[in-house]
Amino acid sequence: MEASRSEAIVLGAMDYRESDRIVTLFPLQHGKVRGVAKGAKRSMRRFGGALEPFARLGVELVVREGLSSLRGADIVSLYPRIRADLLKIALAGYAVEISDRFLPDGAPSPRLFRLLAAYLEHLEQGEARAADRRFFEANFLNILGYRLALDRCAACGEELSPEAARRIGTGGAVLCGACGRVGTPVGPGTVRLLTLCLGTGRFGAVTFPPAALREAGELLDGAISAHLARPLNSLAFLRQIETEPLDAARTRRPVVQEETN
Ligand SMILES: [Zn+2]
Repeated sequence: MEASRSEAIVLGAMDYRESDRIVTLFPLQHGKVRGVAKGAKRSMRRFGGALEPFARLGVELVVREGLSSLRGADIVSLYPRIRADLLKIALAGYAVEISDRFLPDGAPSPRLFRLLAAYLEHLEQGEARAADRRFFEANFLNILGYRLALDRCAACGEELSPEAARRIGTGGAVLCGACGRVGTPVGPGTVRLLTLCLGTGRFGAVTFPPAALREAGELLDGAISAHLARPLNSLAFLRQIETEPLDAARTRRPVVQEETN
């Protein structure tokens, strides 16, 4: 069978048998595939340490139903500055894990590929900012067809003006003042900033004040978990890193996320 070449981002990787590695790839042209890289643990010539989560590669693939075959890989970027910073590792690991969990096999999504690649590049070049993670999530859900419904109550369907009272319901649903009596309130500023996130493709273009960041975070965390059957491994790790004092977190040895499913 002919091998095809594609650009790809590694979503997950784990050792397999004596000398192989199984990788979950997000190739630009094919959509998500799982493939075996034969001899990857031995052959530095063919894979050269490239098969690590969130690496960006040029791959030579034979795509099959079930398990594909990875013939070779060239490194586009391993994102060395992300790998030198524990918080950035946690953020990048989270971004590839949600991509793995949400993407169906073999469905190409060039927009999602570009969003993920842009986020990794932004993490590589700049600071690790919580606002960028929320920007990524809002656009991620939008591309996959789960756009945040900010302008309509999820329970009664009433249209909500920009200034209307809103609260967060179960699964990150936005509720009007009458339907949502107990959830966290969402201010008009947060709604405006989230709408802005969906209107620009550029990381760093939208900044959130702390209160808006908390509200947007609760909304997005709820919306994401509502679509997942089990919790994300990388989210527990990310929360641990975010709550630890910076010095303690950054002197611990970086942990590279291994795929568990
Ligand atoms: Zn309502």
